Amino acid sequence: MAEKIKMTVPLVEMDGDEMTRIIWKMIKDILLTPYIDLKTEYYDLGLANREKTKDQVTVDAANANKKYGVSVKCATITPNAQRVKEYNLTEMWKSPNGTIRAILDGTVFRLPIIVNNVEPFVRTWKKPITIARHAYGDIYKAAEMKVEEKGKCELVFTTENGEEKRELIHNFSAPGIVMGMHNLNKSIESFARSCFSYALDVKQDLWFSCKDTISKKYDHTFKDIFQDMYDNEYKAKFEEAGIRYVYTLIDAAVANIIKIDGGIIWACKNYDGDVMSDMVAAAFGSIAMMSSVLVSPDGNYEYEAAHGTVQDQYYMHLEGKETSVNPIATIYAWTGALRKRGELDGNDELMKFADKLERATLDTFEDGVITGDLARLAQGKIRIVNTTEILDEINSRLVKMM
Ligand code: NAP
Ligand code: MG
Repeated sequence: MAEKIKMTVPLVEMDGDEMTRIIWKMIKDILLTPYIDLKTEYYDLGLANREKTKDQVTVDAANANKKYGVSVKCATITPNAQRVKEYNLTEMWKSPNGTIRAILDGTVFRLPIIVNNVEPFVRTWKKPITIARHAYGDIYKAAEMKVEEKGKCELVFTTENGEEKRELIHNFSAPGIVMGMHNLNKSIESFARSCFSYALDVKQDLWFSCKDTISKKYDHTFKDIFQDMYDNEYKAKFEEAGIRYVYTLIDAAVANIIKIDGGIIWACKNYDGDVMSDMVAAAFGSIAMMSSVLVSPDGNYEYEAAHGTVQDQYYMHLEGKETSVNPIATIYAWTGALRKRGELDGNDELMKFADKLERATLDTFEDGVITGDLARLAQGKIRIVNTTEILDEINSRLVKMM
């Protein structure tokens, strides 16, 4: 075999939990280290080690991402009451993704991985649609109230010197509900910047949609921030790259997205992104086929699968039963990170390897060798294989390309 591909700068590697932790190691052993002199700075974000380090390891990993620019992350458990018991936790540690996002200040881009034997439910879709979700504020950080009696509800803003500004919400003559939410210009600017730079990076049109006709201050501010940034900083670069920035109302965007063949980035406000990313994932086939990248406005990248730790199959695995975990999104997290590392370091070999590994993975699935999650979706002749076999099948195709 040819010499292993060298790396100069390490990838930040964040290990995780349950079934994805198991395939993480297998992917490295079977598909990566035989071909690459893999250089990583390793952080164990598995729940046991988060407990042991009082979650310091998550903060350290995020800071390492800032230092080196590129990381690859395995799915991790976000603790709830049941997990606190299961893992004997001293605290209900926060979502690692939330912690990392808060430190990197990024936007999450989710995009489906397409294989030609799983047809999207939307006939026109031929190319991936990437959803960019603004992950701060709005209804996710809102104050709510149930109104039980007659009375007046107002928005009150008090300045630091005690001056008040008021806006009537409603004069209630019967019971109802109210909600107050906010966002920050700085956060919207970071979101917009991440979207514009990601669009340039992948050379795809960028759509942004909200409801500025109804929300003349709140949503209009989003629209204005995007438009000003585009006009002042990105217009020339977009024209040079041959891509477009398009603003549309959210309802028009929903109607239009069904008619195009894909290949765009759709930037959404927090709630719209939550809803639309699940719609796009389902319409393209399966959550196991969604990859995800966090891009910070200052150019840090964190690659991961969009799915979780595949807990149900992990329990089967512990009982000694056979599993069939789909590794595509986790492999794409690695190829995304390796390709970006290669791009930043001028390492052509590494970029080519990422392309080959993706091709070998797609070929395997398109040859009809698939995991159980796609059993009912895939067309043509199929053979369902287990968690280890799928990686061996991918490797048997990869080895021929090397
Ligand atoms: P999940 O792990 O994504 O699994 C949901 C269901 O999707 C599974 O039951 C499985 O369906 C299917 N699935 C997902 N990925 C698959 C794959 N690679 N291969 C085959 N099937 C796959 O989500 P969850 O069960 O809600 O959450 C489990 C744990 O993951 C939780 O502790 C949660 O906190 C964590 N989580 C982490 C992240 C992250 O780190 N980014 C994201 C989401 C959830 P079947 O039941 O049909 O097998
Ligand atoms: Mg959701």
